[in-house]
Amino acid sequence: MRISVIGTGYVGTVSAACFAQLGHEVICVDIDKSKIDMINAGIPPIYEEGLAELLEKHAGKKLSGTSDYRYAVMNSDVSFICVGTPSGPSGNIELGIVKAASASLGDALKDKKDYHVIVVKSTVVPETTEKVVLPIIEKYSKKRSGDFGIAMNPEFLREGKAIYDFMHPDKIVIGSLDKKAGDLVASLYSGLDCEITRTNPRTAEMIKYVNNAFLATKISFSNEIGNICKQLDINTYEVMKAVGKDFRIGPHFLNSGAGFGGSCFPKDVKALIGKAKSIGYEPLILESVIKVNEKQPGRMVLLLKKELGDLKCKKIAVLGLAFKNDTDDIRESRAIPVINELLDNGAEVSAYDPMANENMSRIFGNIKYNSSAADALKEADACLVMTEWDEFKKLNKEFDMMENKLIIDGRHMLTPRKDTKYVGLCW
Ligand code: NAD
Repeated sequence: MRISVIGTGYVGTVSAACFAQLGHEVICVDIDKSKIDMINAGIPPIYEEGLAELLEKHAGKKLSGTSDYRYAVMNSDVSFICVGTPSGPSGNIELGIVKAASASLGDALKDKKDYHVIVVKSTVVPETTEKVVLPIIEKYSKKRSGDFGIAMNPEFLREGKAIYDFMHPDKIVIGSLDKKAGDLVASLYSGLDCEITRTNPRTAEMIKYVNNAFLATKISFSNEIGNICKQLDINTYEVMKAVGKDFRIGPHFLNSGAGFGGSCFPKDVKALIGKAKSIGYEPLILESVIKVNEKQPGRMVLLLKKELGDLKCKKIAVLGLAFKNDTDDIRESRAIPVINELLDNGAEVSAYDPMANENMSRIFGNIKYNSSAADALKEADACLVMTEWDEFKKLNKEFDMMENKLIIDGRHMLTPRKDTKYVGLCW
C-alpha cells in the first residue's frame, strides 16, 4: 500500500519508518523542510532506538519526504495525520495544527479521482475526527464523506521503545465511519501479530485518553501512597511489590518518584479534563492526578532544603534532564520545575543527561551542562537524580568527587552507600 504520513515528529517518523519496514511505500510530509531534508538523507530528525537503521535502510527506496501535500496525496492511498496536539493555555487541547493539516489534505484531495482514506493518528479528544477533521476535509476537498474514507487510529508507542512498540503492539485500535475505510487501514497492519479492535472514531479517540489517563492515575496514586509511606517510615516499594501481586492490580506503573512528564501524559490528562468540563462534568479523580503530579518535583527540593538549609550558592548536581530514560525528549520533564526552584533559591545547577543536555539548554541557558555524571558531581553539595537512566545505576566512585555526599533520589535508582547520605523521595 502507498502511505503518506503528515508530520515527522516522534509518532510520524517512527510510523513512517515502521510502515516502510512492513513493506509499504511511504511519503513523509512536514512543513519543516529541515526535517524533510534529514529524512531524505536517511537521518532521523529525533532520537529513537533503531530508527537510524530503519531510515538508512529505506530512505530513497521505500521512504521519501516532501513538503508538497498534493504530491503526497496523489501518490498515496491513505494519509496519516501525525501532527502535534499541544495543550492550550487552560490545558484544553489545541487543535490548530490538526486543523491546518486537515485543510491542506482536503485541498490536495480536491483533484484526486481515486479513493483515499484520511486517518487521524494524533491524539485528539472524542468527537474531533467527526466534528473537526471531517468537516474541514469536506470543505476543502469539495467531496462528501464516503467519496473518501475517514478513520481514527490512536498510537500507543512509548518514547525510547517506539520502534519495538510499533512492531510489537499489544493493541491496534481502528475507529472508522464505514467498513471500507476501516478495512483499508486494518490491511496496513496485516504484517503484525496483533488483534485489531474495530470501533467508531470517537470510541477510538476515547480509548487513547483512557489508556494514558489510567496509567497517569496509577503513577499519581503510587506517588501519594509513597509520600504517606515516607512519613511513616515505610518502604513504599515493598508495599507496592506486594500490592502488585494482586492480578486485578498488576505490578506495572506502581513505582513512586518525581512524577510523570513527557509530551503525552500531562497534556492528555489535561485535555480529557477539559473535554469533560466542556460537557458539564467535573472530573475529580483526573484533576487530583494532575495536582499530585505537579507537587511531586517540589518535594525533591523540600527534602534538599531539609538536609542543606539555605540553597544560596550551593552547587547542586542534577542527574537526568530527559522526561524519561532512552530519549532526548524533555517536554514536561520533572527536571524543569526542579531546576526552576533551585535557581529561584539561588543555587548553582550543574546538570548532566546522556542525551538531553542540548534540548534542555534551550530552556535553561543559565545552568552548567556537563559531558559526564562525574563532571556534574565534582564539588557538588548535593545530587538530585531525576531520570532513570541505566548508567546512573552504575555510578559509585563518581560520588567521591562531591563536596558533600548527599543524594536525593527521585527515581529509586541508586543503592545507598555507607559513606553517603542517601534520601529517597518516597522511601
Ligand atoms: P511532534 O511535535 O514531535 O511532531 C509533530 C510534527 O508535525 C513536527 O515535525 C511539525 O513540524 C509537524 N507539523 C506541524 N504542522 C504541520 C503541518 N501543518 N503539516 C505537516 N506537518 C506539520 O509530535 P509527536 O510527539 O510526534 O506527537 C504527534 C501526535 O501523536 C500528538 O497528538 C501526540 O499526542 C500523539 N502521540 C505522541 C506520542 C509520543 O510518545 N510522542 C505517543 C502517542 C501519541
